[in-house]
Amino acid sequence: MPDLGEKDSRPSWVPVKKNPEFACSVMGGIDSNINSVTEEKIIPAVAVKSFPLRRRYTAEELVKGVSEGDRMMLSQAITLIESNAPKDFDKAQRVLQALLPRTGNALRIGITGVPGAGKSTFIEAFGQMLCSSGHRVAVLAVDPTSSITGGSILGDKTRMQMLSREPNCFIRPSPAKGTLGGVARKSRETMLLCEASGCDVILVETVGVGQSETTVRSMVDFFMLIVLTGAGDDLQGIKKGIMELADAIVVNKADGDNLNRALVAQGEYERMVEFIRPATEGWKTHAYCCSAIKKAGLKELWEVMQAFSQVTKKSGVFKQRRQKQVLSWVHSMIDEHLHNLFYNDNLIKGRMPAVMQSVLNSVISPSQAVTELIRAFDMDRAAVKHFEDISRSTHKK
Ligand code: GDP
Repeated sequence: MPDLGEKDSRPSWVPVKKNPEFACSVMGGIDSNINSVTEEKIIPAVAVKSFPLRRRYTAEELVKGVSEGDRMMLSQAITLIESNAPKDFDKAQRVLQALLPRTGNALRIGITGVPGAGKSTFIEAFGQMLCSSGHRVAVLAVDPTSSITGGSILGDKTRMQMLSREPNCFIRPSPAKGTLGGVARKSRETMLLCEASGCDVILVETVGVGQSETTVRSMVDFFMLIVLTGAGDDLQGIKKGIMELADAIVVNKADGDNLNRALVAQGEYERMVEFIRPATEGWKTHAYCCSAIKKAGLKELWEVMQAFSQVTKKSGVFKQRRQKQVLSWVHSMIDEHLHNLFYNDNLIKGRMPAVMQSVLNSVISPSQAVTELIRAFDMDRAAVKHFEDISRSTHKK
């Protein structure tokens, strides 16, 4: 260790002639250029290079890169889609617009289940199986908790370490922060970008919180519910109605001592789906068993998904669903836009508390409150437009 000497070890506020009560001193740090054992100077073998900041690509470069299947460019394009900066919105939409003709060719599969059911283990094993048979797979996540915590608990690369090393697999965590509507819009557009980059299977994972299952159902062709054994006990953990969304119910962890219980559970679910309206017209939902850990039953499930694709494509249900989905995306985006416009309006923000208080005090009815707020909103929008027109005409002069 280099000799710092008495002078260097004394904090500046310690008197030169320090008294014994000054017990603290500054310790000499370790000099990274000195070998702490031999005390010889270390000459770095390779000079540390300074990397330039990642450059922002043009829309044209992103379109070209994504079309060529470049993963780095795909990541960049998704980051642009996920950006909340208004300046990025137009560029992101230009990229998406140019890539639209290359989209729509993947089989979109939604996967849900309670935490611990084995979703990420399943996706890891299933994704690897698909990649090894030549498919290009994208794994996305719709995580409603991200809008609350600002973080993501799903689709995390660290949860699927083997799969994330596959060159034919692209894993993207849930877009962080934002309303479920915002997260859904970004996930749908991300899905399109992945298709444009050549992915032919999209796996969308979600955990059953809030409306996330319905949201994912509205994004995918085939929806799969992963459940645990002991259907009777575990059913409490499955939300009512979720089975009506599923095209397949998969009892995972059908291995070891659990195998027999899994088969019993499969039978119980099979009986239950008899009483449920099928999620997809012309397709009978069945219960299956698999073991994600032992990689058992995965090939059979892929065959079920392919059969689903063939049957629904032949009957036209596949195309009809996609058309319905795209139209409902438009409506949900309009809803989201109007919602933001209304609740972010300064006049509305100012008036809302007093109007709500009047409703609580029974001074006005809820309907009157709505009429009053909407009228105020209309007037405010008209005033804003009026000022914009005036400023535009003054600029022209
Ligand atoms: P997720 O929360 O639904 O994503 O569940 P995980 O994939 O993280 O799995 C939860 C736990 O179940 C982990 O400890 C897994 O190792 C275990 N697990 C997942 N799949 C299987 C399986 O097929 N068999 C057995 N025995 N355990 C499994």
